[in-house]
Amino acid sequence: METLPLSHWTGSDHRPLVIGGPCSAESEAQVLESAARLRGIRIDYFRAGIWKARTRPATFEGIGDAALPWLQRAGQQYGMRTATEVATPAHVEAALRHGVNLLWIGARTTVNPFSVQEIADALRGVDTPILVKNPTSPDMGLWIGALERIHRAGVRSLGVIHRGFSVAGTRRLRNAPLWELAIEMRRLHPALPIITDPSHITGRRDMVLEISQRAMDLGLDGLMIEAHPNPDQAWSDAAQQVTPERLGEILALLKVRQATSSDASYLASLEVLRDRIDHLDHDLLEVLSRRMRVVEEIAEYKRANNVATLQVSRWSALLEDRLAQAVELGLAQEYARAIYEVIHRESVRRQSEVMNEETAGAANETLDT
Ligand code: PEP
Ligand code: MN
Repeated sequence: METLPLSHWTGSDHRPLVIGGPCSAESEAQVLESAARLRGIRIDYFRAGIWKARTRPATFEGIGDAALPWLQRAGQQYGMRTATEVATPAHVEAALRHGVNLLWIGARTTVNPFSVQEIADALRGVDTPILVKNPTSPDMGLWIGALERIHRAGVRSLGVIHRGFSVAGTRRLRNAPLWELAIEMRRLHPALPIITDPSHITGRRDMVLEISQRAMDLGLDGLMIEAHPNPDQAWSDAAQQVTPERLGEILALLKVRQATSSDASYLASLEVLRDRIDHLDHDLLEVLSRRMRVVEEIAEYKRANNVATLQVSRWSALLEDRLAQAVELGLAQEYARAIYEVIHRESVRRQSEVMNEETAGAANETLDT
């Protein structure tokens, strides 16, 4: 997928790209005050939600078209580019008529290919930058499919917003970040800008800095952070919005990592460290392969003695022992647990395969004769 670099949209290649502003436009005064207080902070786009896709009805669903002139005025008055979310072709047309400089597709829209296609059709011939938020569910296919639809419509100033995913269970964060999906997106489309949205990931303002820093540590390209002149009184997403001044502090506190360095001694040392990782990974895979040979021997032995593959008490004892060893070796317990669950699942699968080889062989013999 051929796309243009961020510097093409913003005219400079500083990192991170920052999109800041209130979750929703609530009144002309609130929009103008947000913009006025953000003016002194280096943000690239001033955001405000005009149409709000709310999960539940009878909550504030955005001012709608009437708020577009406010956004336009804020942009003109304070010299800022503007950005908003669109969910229908009518939104696209209205936003473009009011000179909105960047549009994004929200998480609840990315999940629906019909809606995305309608938006893509409305974007034909438009060169406004478009960002596609990840779908609410952790589904790479849906996310990439949405990007492809927009790309096929001819949009080249294209990027994504990583805003976390809905997963079952109670959590510390509003949306699980599942960084591995953002990393997978980078692997599949290395040139595609990735903007992280710590406001919607966390759902709480006290963790916005931590998640923003994490995005910078991963070398991601930008941040979308909700900022409101009076966060506690916000009509939507009150708990996660920060004041414009706090947004300034957050940006100042961030340690922005360079994507790479051309310093020769840095590169040489990195090469040595990467070489060590490569060798360790080879050893790791060799040990796993040797372990699997033993698993197969056990399976053959069980088969000869007609014993079931899964011995729950052995598994519980093994897991407990390995977790203790892992912790002693300085590894996080949850990390070790996740690894052992995968190892165990594959061992059980392989043992069943071995146990059934004889039966499958016998069945084949019957068929063969
Ligand atoms: C928003 O940006 O205000 C928003 C509704 O985000 P999301 O689509 O990520 O829920
Ligand atoms: Mn919001």
